[in-house]
Amino acid sequence: MPLDFLKRKNTAGKAAHPTASKTTGPAVLPEEVVAQDFVLKLYYAGKTSEGVRMTTGPQAMVELPSMLVGLAQTEIEVVEPLPIEFSQATPVIARPSEAMQWINAHHVHSPITRHALVVLESIDAIDLAFDTFVCALLDGEVDTSGYPEYNAVIGGIAAHWDEATGDMICRAVVGWGGRGVRGDTDRNGAKLLAGLLTNILANQYAMGLTAVERPMPAAGRGGLVCAHCGFASAHERAFYCPKCGMRLLRG
Ligand SMILES: [Zn+2]
Repeated sequence: MPLDFLKRKNTAGKAAHPTASKTTGPAVLPEEVVAQDFVLKLYYAGKTSEGVRMTTGPQAMVELPSMLVGLAQTEIEVVEPLPIEFSQATPVIARPSEAMQWINAHHVHSPITRHALVVLESIDAIDLAFDTFVCALLDGEVDTSGYPEYNAVIGGIAAHWDEATGDMICRAVVGWGGRGVRGDTDRNGAKLLAGLLTNILANQYAMGLTAVERPMPAAGRGGLVCAHCGFASAHERAFYCPKCGMRLLRG
């Protein structure tokens, strides 16, 4: 009886002591560290064509969706340039303020268009500070939630107003990607890009190919408010409203 009592007391004392350890001596580093590897390979890719100069502004604007006819596998959606309050919008979830702007700006769009924007904005193929983007699924499948598979090709037309002349410049844009990559997607994308460019050039307002000089994004203070449509551009060097194409008046 007195022995049992002693034992129990001893155990309790040991557990309470912070330096007490079952192992003796320092831990030995094994010769080879057994590591479990984790990796996620995201692959985003895209192509854009040369620009095509269009003769008129607002009339050419309404023609944009028709340039996807024959190539679009789904409904054609139009994404307008983002006003200044969304100038920080970025599809990167680790940056909550930018991500929130992006979601607020784009949650109304279809899963296909959102996927297209994530891919094409991530690789810098389009910039919604000045681009109007007309988009659809061009090839491949969507998953059960309606989002394109990694090898599905999305795309359409990106249009912006040339700073010098005020002409609308249209580019064909395609993109694809996600958790996987397939060898034939690139070739497929190139074929679709050619089809889109053919459609742009076939438009009644098309004047011909032109070098694309993309407008410079604003350096901070923001640009001008369009007197015609009220669009507040984040794009301080713009001479023409990114949304309606009318000349911006400088105060
Ligand atoms: Zn405007």
